[in-house]
Amino acid sequence: MSDLTRTDGWIPPQPPACACVEHVEDVLDVVIASRYPDPPSTTVRDLIATGDFSVVPMSEQWSGGHDGGPLHWNLWAGDEARSLYADDAELSLDASLTSRPGIERVEWIDREILLIGAPGMCAGGVLAAAARALEDPRVR
Ligand SMILES: [Zn+2]
Repeated sequence: MSDLTRTDGWIPPQPPACACVEHVEDVLDVVIASRYPDPPSTTVRDLIATGDFSVVPMSEQWSGGHDGGPLHWNLWAGDEARSLYADDAELSLDASLTSRPGIERVEWIDREILLIGAPGMCAGGVLAAAARALEDPRVR
């Protein structure tokens, strides 16, 4: 991944040359409440293990979000994450993400896919921010 470059020249930062306030290793034991008894609440570790919560750098130059700026990361939040947020919540999942340090904009393009503008963050930092976004009880 470290040799991935895009037409705009952005290269995904790698730790420690990133601006993340924390990384996924720091949040693995964070518990995210489920909206339902089944599937139950889950740790970030178990959510990642389902394969339905991951981040990869975008290989193409995209723009979007509230200011139409550049997007860098592709967050996959699949079926196993669906019980962790509500569409009619006080705080939408994309708004919760946008409020995290280092995240400049979010474009929610599909049910399971959110594109994130965060040029200074690494993949592990973006995933940690996404976990914190889900941890916020206002998204349920
Ligand atoms: Zn980082």
